[in-house]
Amino acid sequence: MRVVLLGAPGAGKGTQGERLVKKYSFPHISTGEIFRAAIKEGTPLGKQAKEYMDKGALVPDSLVVGIVSERLQQPDCQEGFLLDGFPRTVGQAEALDEVLSGKGTPLNAVISVDADQGELLERLTGRRVCKTCGATYHIRFNQPQVRNVCDKCGGELYQRADDTVETVKQRLDVYCRQTEPLITYYQKKNLLFSVDGSKEIAAVFAEIISKLEGEKPA
Ligand code: ADP
Ligand code: ADP
Ligand code: ZN
Repeated sequence: MRVVLLGAPGAGKGTQGERLVKKYSFPHISTGEIFRAAIKEGTPLGKQAKEYMDKGALVPDSLVVGIVSERLQQPDCQEGFLLDGFPRTVGQAEALDEVLSGKGTPLNAVISVDADQGELLERLTGRRVCKTCGATYHIRFNQPQVRNVCDKCGGELYQRADDTVETVKQRLDVYCRQTEPLITYYQKKNLLFSVDGSKEIAAVFAEIISKLEGEKPA
């Protein structure tokens, strides 16, 4: 299954992605995670991406598209994949279509996780992430068993540099202007499934599964 998770920052893409890859055992490809790993390693890509990420802006398509295309050629992606946070612009979506149609393996579904702005702000400013494995928690809505320690790997939790109120507002604005048009883009292709992301994590997951496993796009 080839699936894209679409949604504003904080909608729950990463959280649902973690659960989906456990169920379907396909690779979880998060462009945000790829950039954060590159920053941690101090690579040239990381240095370039950091400039944009710190401001809450998007990394230019020219940098992102090549990385994802290469990732999709890897053997573990041939049976399917979950894209999280990519595409984020119409240009990226067109490039993805081209790569996949070249391989004769088009997308099966795009899941749009919807939530309102107030909820997103609260989620993002309370988000904590594992330094070691990238797992996502929330100080109120999804607490680890031991404060600041990852349940999965024992790693230390931290607050992302771009999860401050000011940068979050900028990112939500960028989402509305540059990413939201993808909803119509995928609706026209009859690939879009919308789910109510304001529900509890388990309820959102159940809705995604039911959409993926049978219902028609809506
Ligand atoms: P995204 O990848 O879309 O930016 P995340 O999955 O990182 O979003 O979720 C953002 C924050 O909100 C995290 O702290 C996460 O634990 C929390 N969260 C995710 N889904 C829900 C939900 N359905 N209800 C409450 N909090 C949630
Ligand atoms: P969130 O879901 O909370 O917005 P991500 O981890 O998906 O966070 O992305 C973090 C940052 O990485 C974005 O604000 C942006 O600067 C950059 N980024 C991630 N994916 C893309 C993409 N597909 N195109 C451009 N920039 C991206
Ligand atoms: Zn961890």
